[in-house]
Amino acid sequence: MTHKNFKNIDKVTYGRGSFAQLSETIAPIRKENKQYFVFVVDNYFKGKDLSAKLQNKPEDLVYYVDVDPYEPTTHQIDALRDEILAKKGLPSGVIGIGGGSIMDIAKALSLMLTNEGSSTLYQGLNLIKNPGIYHLGVPTISGTGAEVSMTAVLTGPEKKLGLKCDWTVFNQVILDPELIATVPTDWWFYTGMDTYIHCIESHNGIRNNAFSLAYGDQALHLCREVYLNEKAGQTPENNDILMVASLMGGLSLTYSEVGVCHALSYGLSKIHGTRHCYANCVIFQHLGDIYPQGHSEFMQMIKKHKIELPQNLSKDWDEATLDKMAMVSYNLPFMWNHAFGDNYKEIATLDYIKDLFRCL
Ligand code: NAD
Ligand code: ZN
Repeated sequence: MTHKNFKNIDKVTYGRGSFAQLSETIAPIRKENKQYFVFVVDNYFKGKDLSAKLQNKPEDLVYYVDVDPYEPTTHQIDALRDEILAKKGLPSGVIGIGGGSIMDIAKALSLMLTNEGSSTLYQGLNLIKNPGIYHLGVPTISGTGAEVSMTAVLTGPEKKLGLKCDWTVFNQVILDPELIATVPTDWWFYTGMDTYIHCIESHNGIRNNAFSLAYGDQALHLCREVYLNEKAGQTPENNDILMVASLMGGLSLTYSEVGVCHALSYGLSKIHGTRHCYANCVIFQHLGDIYPQGHSEFMQMIKKHKIELPQNLSKDWDEATLDKMAMVSYNLPFMWNHAFGDNYKEIATLDYIKDLFRCL
């Protein structure tokens, strides 16, 4: 067995108001390449308070990117890369300010600025040939762990798959809990549950180990404070906690693996465009047989926050649609292997996966 050897984020700033340190943080990097930065900011912030606090210089390029309704695509990254290089040449760095979608755009852009051709060529593990440029992430929604992960998930014409390698990982993140205050309550719930599900899946499988369990246990403890205990709710104190939970949940799965919910989630998202965290919640409500303890706690949190998830989605799916969804999920063997052990192929057959989708 080969042991994983993961790169972590080089530097992390954490704390209320830490976003104000962005400009001084990137100052030493400004000397590199064509001496300007590209800012990729979630369109939600256009005209809002944060856009006046970007601390960008006149030479910088600022893009406000709409991440609704679609998750980042290979085409979008290729077009943005070509435009930036044609306009000003190679930047000193890329700064992503937004949720998981923007984190992935910033990471992918950093890599594609130094790697030729379409990003579709690099969807997979260690396919990137040259190191990317400096990239810094400022998350404004917590939960996906995209701020810490070694993948930049892109939807291409054929697959939804990450550009995954050591160079994908951010050089720096700035975790400022003030920035997540405006997240709508339903998204606050779905994205936080992504962290929760990361930990449950990381724990319940053959790849867990003391390292992944330590991060996962702590992240679960923090999730309970935010979503389950007496002081649960979308408060500033809980936002301080949630940002750390997201990071630790991401580290837990990095050192272990996700499982059945994520494998199904990829199938649902790829075929129907359902967003990652929401898709996970829609699916996890039906996984009581596979993850009994995690499921029971999840249902308590759903009840506490009066979240209504859709039912009977599968009534609109014909066999051909179910086949396509099942194929996407089936092609994630690492997740099934982790969840079911070494004889996973006998359990996670296409028919079994289709039956799981029929429960939705
Ligand atoms: P998101 O980035 O897709 O944003 C969801 C919505 O929240 C958008 O409408 C956005 O405009 C809005 N928003 C963002 N910040 C806000 C704020 N502070 N206040 C109000 N609204 C705000 O959300 P997400 O769930 O964090 O990310 C999902 C994406 O992350 C998917 O594309 C998925 O593929 C990717 N993902 C990546 C990884 C990884 O490891 N790289 C892991 C899981 C998911
Ligand atoms: Zn996830």
